[in-house]
Amino acid sequence: MTPPQSPLNPFVWPQLQAVPGLVHGVFTRHGGVSRPPYATLNAAFGNGDSPEAVSENLRRIASWLDLNFLVATPQVHGTQVVVVDEAFLHARPKKTANGFSLIVGPQADAMVTACVGVGLLIKIADCQAVFLMDPVRRVVANVHCGWRGSVGNILAETVRVMRTGFGTRPEDLLATISPSLGPCCAEFRHFTREIPLHLWGFQVRPTYFDFWSISRHQLTACGVRPENIHAAQVCTVCHRDTYFSYRGEKTKGRMAAVIGLTSH
Ligand SMILES: [Zn+2]
Repeated sequence: MTPPQSPLNPFVWPQLQAVPGLVHGVFTRHGGVSRPPYATLNAAFGNGDSPEAVSENLRRIASWLDLNFLVATPQVHGTQVVVVDEAFLHARPKKTANGFSLIVGPQADAMVTACVGVGLLIKIADCQAVFLMDPVRRVVANVHCGWRGSVGNILAETVRVMRTGFGTRPEDLLATISPSLGPCCAEFRHFTREIPLHLWGFQVRPTYFDFWSISRHQLTACGVRPENIHAAQVCTVCHRDTYFSYRGEKTKGRMAAVIGLTSH
């Protein structure tokens, strides 16, 4: 007998749900088929989980979003941004299984697309996934932003690519910050060598940093309106029952954060 399937219950933002032709979600650790220590909705290949299980997990995620196409990249905590356009989609090999397709791009930590039907997949466990949506030019981005991404300011780099490549005006952008490492748990004992001086003001108490505020600060510095930035304000380390947390349990499981356009 197969066990009952627990439903997917991703974190979503009403501000993004209100945009027509846009789907998104930050999925929890529940609702998939992976076994411990990846239980159950692990979104990442290559961490030792069964590829069949990951493939089924991604199929469920894509299906929940009504997408049949996901694009992911090997994430390396850098500041490289990939533009997913028609040429990219045709040039890369497509892995099709179980009724959905996955395209794996080159190493990068952010993706931008104006293509319809394509879900941009970022995998996280404590790092931030930051969604950017330009409802005027109809362009979306998904950014993997851990502390190294914050130090390198990958958010500014992504906004720059949206401006130069798609004509995005930062003041039009909607931005969301996923459940991720919160100021309650973001201890950096070696911050003097890991975090540059200009970010030391984001300490909430000695050695604890508020990376949600750093992301807000970096986005507003690019011209994103403060009122258009919506952080989940949920700490993954504090909510390990719902989310994978690398710091909390050295987990190998990764959650999926996906955004995509379903119409022009
Ligand atoms: Zn916490």
